[in-house]
Amino acid sequence: MGQIIPWNFPLLMAAWKLAPALATGCTVVLKVAEETPLTALRLGEILQEAGLPPGVVNIVTGFGETAGAALAAHPGVDKVAFTGSTEVGRLIVQAAARDLKHVSLELGGKSPNIILEDADLDVAIPGAASAIFFNHGQCCCAGSRLYVHERLFDKVVAGVSDQAKAIKLGSGLDPATQMGPMVSETQRDRVCSYLEFGKKEGARAVTGGKAREGSGYFVEPTVFVDTKPGMKIVKEEIFGPVVTVTPFAEAGDALVHEANDTIYGLAAGIWTRDVSKAHALAARLKAGTVWINCYNIFDAALPFGGYKQSGWGREMGEAVLDNYLATKAVTISL
Ligand code: NAP
Ligand code: MG
Repeated sequence: MGQIIPWNFPLLMAAWKLAPALATGCTVVLKVAEETPLTALRLGEILQEAGLPPGVVNIVTGFGETAGAALAAHPGVDKVAFTGSTEVGRLIVQAAARDLKHVSLELGGKSPNIILEDADLDVAIPGAASAIFFNHGQCCCAGSRLYVHERLFDKVVAGVSDQAKAIKLGSGLDPATQMGPMVSETQRDRVCSYLEFGKKEGARAVTGGKAREGSGYFVEPTVFVDTKPGMKIVKEEIFGPVVTVTPFAEAGDALVHEANDTIYGLAAGIWTRDVSKAHALAARLKAGTVWINCYNIFDAALPFGGYKQSGWGREMGEAVLDNYLATKAVTISL
């Protein structure tokens, strides 16, 4: 098995990939992200100490364009499991096509998070803030498009902005820090270019909207309003602490259409006191995970993965085992 993982959760991504492969009896070459190789290398040492036979788990560092591409195209690899950007996901599929390798993909997202008129705002406001600001928004399932019933809109915008302003930015090594720097200069610049696009296209940053002054790759947690459906900041995955907030008048077809109006389909959130409404809406959202009155809740027993261009296949749950198993029918003449 060839496995390629990103930098946003270095240990967790390695665990999500290695565990099911080992559970199904596969050997693995795991390529870690250039930004975050150390955790998986330490994990490799621990696996050795634990007595895993040599050659079962092989951890490879290196760049995507060389090491990653070679792994995805290697004729000795039966299957490639990839987590990362949708662009690179496409390259993986092309590389795997020659030998018709099996491929599973966990890609990007632009997840809608919907606050209905009857939501408990004491829960929904901090929930919506943490949905986007957790791990600096460097989450594939980040709740980056917040849709709020128009009667609650001002209150939610103010509440989420207050939460954003209260986040303590600083060194990741300082225990008092709540949000560290972005993973790299490239990522900081990428996020900041979206902030500029947003402002140029007419959106208004209620809070944040720029990099923090001084050293370090810090981006201020940002809440954008006055957005329109076609804007870049509403359409594209930013992978930073940036949320767009949009009002809606009614939780009907128009809202469902807007929530689903994306190439992605990884996750969604719904905040309501009415569980029937929540189920009815959840059924109409094209997303592999729907969280109700919560967000970013994971369980090893629950399948995780995307509709549409958010990926192929599921991680975790029973479903992940299918990624690593082949079904065989043996027929005997008696
Ligand atoms: P990425 O390029 O998709 O990287 C993910 C992994 O794929 C890394 O290990 C990378 O290697 C490797 N890779 C890159 N090019 C490859 C190729 N041609 N063939 C095989 N493997 C290749 O993501 P990124 O550059 O780190 O981040 C860019 C954007 O992707 C982010 O801003 C975000 O929007 C998105 N992203 C999504 C997720 C997610 O969980 N869905 C995670 C990370 C990023 P190296 O990086 O080591 O060179
Ligand atoms: Mg990279």
